[in-house]
Amino acid sequence: MSSPIQPVVVSPKQLTSHNIEQFGDPSQGNCTWHTLVSAPHTNTNSLSSGIAVCQPRIGCLRHHRHKEAEIYYIISGEGIVHIDGVEHHVSAGSTVFIPGDAEHAIFNQAEEELKWFYVFATDSFGDIVYRFTPDKTAVEDTKAVEGAGL
Ligand SMILES: [Zn+2]
Repeated sequence: MSSPIQPVVVSPKQLTSHNIEQFGDPSQGNCTWHTLVSAPHTNTNSLSSGIAVCQPRIGCLRHHRHKEAEIYYIISGEGIVHIDGVEHHVSAGSTVFIPGDAEHAIFNQAEEELKWFYVFATDSFGDIVYRFTPDKTAVEDTKAVEGAGL
């Protein structure tokens, strides 16, 4: 039996020692992330969270959906978040609510790293089933980046 849920504080030291992860398939995006709060690694429930990073100019997490709602809080940098076909410019301090099953993606076309905190409405990051949109290809995104540079 698991222990009762208790408050959890993740220290900055633990944060930097967390393993950096990324998608095995680069066509899904080249962003990296590390998980901060997620059962069973933390004795928590209901929410899971972490920090993701897109490198300058080419960083992205391509169009995908998952049934859980998600929140982004932009820590640093700026980028473009697509949600159900609408583009939103975001920068440090922006908060984004992404409804469950909404198609979304994030792109960093700026010269600075884009870093954001994300929260999922589920116990564990392992619960999230990413459904990537097959027709949103790397070619299409490349065109978008070129267009935005003009
Ligand atoms: Zn997502």
